[in-house]
Amino acid sequence: MAKKVGYITLDSEACKACYLCISVCPEKLIGVSQRLNQKGYYPAEIIAPDPEKDDRRCTGCATCATICPDVVIEVYRE
Ligand code: SF4
Ligand code: SF4
Repeated sequence: MAKKVGYITLDSEACKACYLCISVCPEKLIGVSQRLNQKGYYPAEIIAPDPEKDDRRCTGCATCATICPDVVIEVYRE
């Protein structure tokens, strides 16, 4: 059976770079941005895997959004 799919949005300007979301995503779809935000943090960023080479998919599980202390992640299910 195909994995359920979803996607997230992440407000990088509001992120305080605790990286809890990175540690909990079962699909490893969140990483650290190379660019500082206006608060002076390297925020979390969404990784978009190449669908030809990588079968990681956001399942819409919402674990990342639930753990984020700053509520900057929103989850959508398709
Ligand atoms: S859990 Fe929230 S505040 Fe922490 S790094 Fe992730 S998006 Fe940023
Ligand atoms: S909703 Fe689940 S699979 Fe999708 S990015 Fe967040 S933790 Fe990862």
